[in-house]
Amino acid sequence: MSNPYMTRQGGATVTVFVPYDCGNHCPFCINKQEYENTEGFSAEKICRSIRTLDAITPECDFVFTGGEPLADLPSLQKMLDLIPAGHRIFINTTLPVMKRHSADEVVDFLNANSGKISCVNVSRHLKKYVVEGSDDLFARLRVPVRINCVLFDQYDEAQLRGFIARFHSIGLPIQFRSDYTQTTPENLYDDAGDPIFKMLGAIAPCTAASGCRIRCNYSFGDKGPEISYHKTLPYSTMTVNKNGVDYDVLYDIIVKQNGDIHSDWTGDALDVEKYREVVYEPYDLHDFEPGRR
Ligand code: SF4
Repeated sequence: MSNPYMTRQGGATVTVFVPYDCGNHCPFCINKQEYENTEGFSAEKICRSIRTLDAITPECDFVFTGGEPLADLPSLQKMLDLIPAGHRIFINTTLPVMKRHSADEVVDFLNANSGKISCVNVSRHLKKYVVEGSDDLFARLRVPVRINCVLFDQYDEAQLRGFIARFHSIGLPIQFRSDYTQTTPENLYDDAGDPIFKMLGAIAPCTAASGCRIRCNYSFGDKGPEISYHKTLPYSTMTVNKNGVDYDVLYDIIVKQNGDIHSDWTGDALDVEKYREVVYEPYDLHDFEPGRR
């Protein structure tokens, strides 16, 4: 695409793929195959890309994912230390049990970085695909934590209720996520035909809904920690015409394991020089009533 770039105020979210693996094999994972051959992986080049993107959008969000961000704490520390105040930082992790770092070390690391980290998003699923750290660890964390659960394969309302009870008993919000490889522009906002939406609605009423061109989010219930449901398209660039000009609107920028910067999840390289000239629009996030968008 050769259109000028546009992004939302603050800049596109930057997702950084750490250069070390998680050791798990979740069946829905689309990142795993990228960790089979680690040739060219470079924490140094990733750091260079973080600096570049910080200079262009000094208020963007950074998300560390993998792989497993907590598999190499010294390397993650170097990356976190590069990011000045003004950005929000999120860490997507399994809060793993690992040989290299003990549970105590992981807890100490997260607590020592609590001033930098906006939220730790911990993957937990209805079936155990990974060796999970004990739920007792959550009480020791002094950073905000959210449970992320991908709803994949077979599941029923009773399983969802049990899962919600497990994490609400320790005060943690939960975000359920659909398998985004199945999301299309046609079904993104089709809540009436969405089995997950229906199942969560049977557990607690939908109390809020918001969305933008490429993703939407529903909240359920009004008691206890938040239960939300997140849907997103499998790509994150939209071409939009404004005042007669076609713009490529970027929502997500990806820093790959080798430091390459992509403008989308689909493998497109970011034209960094063009991104330096990015124009901004207000975030097109808006509230809506389910079924009435
Ligand atoms: S833990 Fe995360 S990165 Fe690892 S296989 Fe599972 S989904 Fe993929």
